Amino acid sequence: MSESLLMSTYAPPRVRFVEGHGTRLFDAAGKSYLDFLSGIAVTSLGHSNPRVAAALCEQAGKLWHVSNLFGNELAEPLAHRIDSLIGDGSPLGGKVFFANSGAEANECAIKLARKAGGRGRFHVLSAYGSFHGRTLATLHATGQPEKHEAFQPLPEGFRHVAFGDLEALERAADPSAVTAILLEPIEGEAGVVPPPMGYLQGVRKLCDERGILLILDEIQTGLGRTGRWFAFQAAGIVPDVVTIAKSLGNGMPIGACWARAEVADVFEPGDHGSTFGGQPLACSAALATLEELERIDAPARALAAGAHLRSLLEDLPAVSAVRGSGLLLGAVLEEGGLDAKQVVAAALDHGLVINAPAAYVLRFAPPLTVSGEEIEEAVAILREVLS
Ligand SMILES: *Cc1c(COP(=O)(O)O)cnc(C)c1O
Repeated sequence: MSESLLMSTYAPPRVRFVEGHGTRLFDAAGKSYLDFLSGIAVTSLGHSNPRVAAALCEQAGKLWHVSNLFGNELAEPLAHRIDSLIGDGSPLGGKVFFANSGAEANECAIKLARKAGGRGRFHVLSAYGSFHGRTLATLHATGQPEKHEAFQPLPEGFRHVAFGDLEALERAADPSAVTAILLEPIEGEAGVVPPPMGYLQGVRKLCDERGILLILDEIQTGLGRTGRWFAFQAAGIVPDVVTIAKSLGNGMPIGACWARAEVADVFEPGDHGSTFGGQPLACSAALATLEELERIDAPARALAAGAHLRSLLEDLPAVSAVRGSGLLLGAVLEEGGLDAKQVVAAALDHGLVINAPAAYVLRFAPPLTVSGEEIEEAVAILREVLS
């Protein structure tokens, strides 16, 4: 093959997929793979889901784009559905801004928090190990300093504390400077790391006491994957702002920033915008995705299938622990043992797609529609690879 004309932001792929159905992917040679990564927690309903595909095709024959100067008939019902899911079935009356990606959803949250904070109160605290996106502001919010270096100076107003350390957050959360705390309920890119019990409740309390906004980045964890519609629901709290993307369109690019009405209302016409955000094709896919996730009771599926996958992973040689929730799981490899990246490459050769967010962690995020047989087949492949 001639040299690629794509910028080298990703390592050259070992396999190129040309087709996918449900949990299965196929390469150009017709070889079949089990997809236990779902495009990094995106295709929660499996590849080429027929209902989402039908909704998208219907919309493609009707109206593609008119800009947000006119809006469209799908964005409003989609916002209502998101608001109900964030309320775990009871609408909260929050408002939604539609974007095209996770990073843009977080950009919206950060701009909202800055405007709500007022002059001088613009700092956003986030956690080490976090991932919030690749734009300049979300890159600075991302708690991985090694990713910052080449792009300095980054927008100011971002500070990081240890994830799961409530006292560190209390020390850093000066209410005269800090407008928001931005966290993932489970740190996905850090290697599927959940915080200690009680952490999110503690953060909610701290934010209430100091008048600081709590922004939760549910881009990877949201929409049923962890066994609840949103991971924060397991902690019994409600954040002020929630960002969503990845699985929202089952692969159609769409992101959303939800905020409590009082917070959302600080935005006035002209404060923020997007040419494509909330456009008809993306909304049609997202509406169909949410309808289908509700129809199949996605959180219950994620819980049941997640328990099955977890128990089989725990029995594998070389795996010392399994962490995460529902169908967002990280298998921690024994210290001084195998390199996760090599395991991922060998698994791919054997027809199983997973990835390694950290040097010693394998991440599993299969579609929420994954079957028991597919789980058993995937773990059998992994067992062969590990031994
Ligand atoms: C993937 C991800 C993002 C960024 O989403 P993009 O669509 O790639 O911009 C932000 N936060 C979390 C937690 C993510 O997993």
